[in-house]
Amino acid sequence: MIGEQQLDRLAEIAVKIGVNVQPGQELIINAPIDARVLVQLVAAHAYRVGASLVVPFYNDDFVVRARFENAEDSSFDFAPTWLYEGIRRSLSEGAAMLSVVGADPTVLAGFDPKRIGRMQRAQAAAARPMRNLISSFTVNWSVIAFATPAWARSVFPDDIESVAVEKLWHAILSATRADRDDPVSAWREHADQLLDRCETLNAKRFEALHFRGPGTDLRVGLIDDHVWVGGATEALNGIVCLPNLPTEEVFTMPHRERVDGVVRASKPLVHGGVLIEDIAVRFEKGRIVEAYASRGEEIFRSLVATDEGAARLGEVALVPEASPVARSGLTFRNTLFDENAASHIALGQAYAFTRRGGGGPEAGANESLIHVDWMIGSDRVDVDGITPEGSVVPVMRAGAFVI
Ligand code: ZN
Ligand code: ZN
Repeated sequence: MIGEQQLDRLAEIAVKIGVNVQPGQELIINAPIDARVLVQLVAAHAYRVGASLVVPFYNDDFVVRARFENAEDSSFDFAPTWLYEGIRRSLSEGAAMLSVVGADPTVLAGFDPKRIGRMQRAQAAAARPMRNLISSFTVNWSVIAFATPAWARSVFPDDIESVAVEKLWHAILSATRADRDDPVSAWREHADQLLDRCETLNAKRFEALHFRGPGTDLRVGLIDDHVWVGGATEALNGIVCLPNLPTEEVFTMPHRERVDGVVRASKPLVHGGVLIEDIAVRFEKGRIVEAYASRGEEIFRSLVATDEGAARLGEVALVPEASPVARSGLTFRNTLFDENAASHIALGQAYAFTRRGGGGPEAGANESLIHVDWMIGSDRVDVDGITPEGSVVPVMRAGAFVI
């Protein structure tokens, strides 16, 4: 287990740097039941900075599995609409949100992919109004991680549980810079670096990015008036938050119809409690027209078939191989970490704030119930920027920024 002092430091970073909880603000927390001890420390820090109320919601992998083992078939089209509606209301009245991730990455391995797909669709539809407030940064929010035993066992299958948990904590604390002497200033410095990178890319006004590597030859057309963002984000309520801890990415909006070529995933994707490995897809005019995976293919295909926009891109992100997450050499089987270890693309909904003037399908912004990141970068992948005049500017070589 992790020391109380380190856990407290992580809680403090989450409250002060991640969410940046304000005096008088309500804080809603989502967390795995195993993360109770961290949630309690977060609550203490939140109240110390003046939170009006801290409301935790806990998830339990056993209850999720109990449903798949025992529930009637009709159960899988249900979602707790009332709960998402309540959270949506509270966010629209100014509450902040902290999500703690750490669920068992393969909690649903072996269960019927069709039922998993139905459950995810029902959930995505019910949660959409709430998610819209989050993805448009109506309020300040953040995501952090807790090393649950089930997650740790999945990342370190050859170790006994206590050793696996210890190793995963070590990786989380180092990736979130919680092991530094002064993590708060380390994060400020890092956020400034990401901002510099965004400014460099924004000044270039690339028309497209070209990814080349083993199994990958992909041209991602960027939307006109795209904006590169990363690091700290000023929410619409004026509060600056760091939405992901860790965060290493700078990202922007692709044009929903201007993506062509083939791309192979560089890391496995964990989605909805199932591991999806060796994804390979082909895009034509923005749309996936062929999709394969060596494992979890049915789940991946049902994800892509969620709606029209699920087969198109809503985000493209660049992450260097030198990021602390990438340097750990681990595959975390968790998107919060893996997407910050490699350049990635996301299927589904685009973030309106990554385009000047916002989104909208008429401008080329993608719309979908889903937003799922998957990793395509590695030290064997090069990225070029293509200018409107057609000249080629090296952006990344062997996973490192050269721009
Ligand atoms: Zn991303
Ligand atoms: Zn994303």
